[in-house]
Amino acid sequence: MIYLFCGILSGVVLGAICIPLFRKEDTLESAIIEETQWDLLQRKKEVVLGNIQDLDFEYKCGKLSEEDYQKIRAEMSSEAALVFQEIENIESAADLDALIRREISARNRKSKAAVPTTACSSCDCKNPATNKFCAECGAKLKH
Ligand SMILES: [Zn+2]
Repeated sequence: MIYLFCGILSGVVLGAICIPLFRKEDTLESAIIEETQWDLLQRKKEVVLGNIQDLDFEYKCGKLSEEDYQKIRAEMSSEAALVFQEIENIESAADLDALIRREISARNRKSKAAVPTTACSSCDCKNPATNKFCAECGAKLKH
């Protein structure tokens, strides 16, 4: 009889732990349709970390068996790792964008700075002084 009671109790405890987890996930998914992916991931991170915190707490209170705890904890950890990875990807892509923009504007400034030119003797178009032949007509440039 005591075993039956324990079984029912642990079932109730597990249910009480799992249902809020799923419910949190649902409200999270529907509330963030309009947000950017980064915002979404930040929120997801908060939820995942909160869930892990709750789980650790439940375990410390002795409401979870070692086996259940390890299993759920492992699932949550891999979910957290995924979220962290995605955030990192987005952030490094943003950094890369900024870096590329900086490099391009530096290049543009450099190329706008007076580059010596040579006028073609046959078509009169201007070519960089380093060219040996005219880019327009292909005539040999006289330097
Ligand atoms: Zn030419």
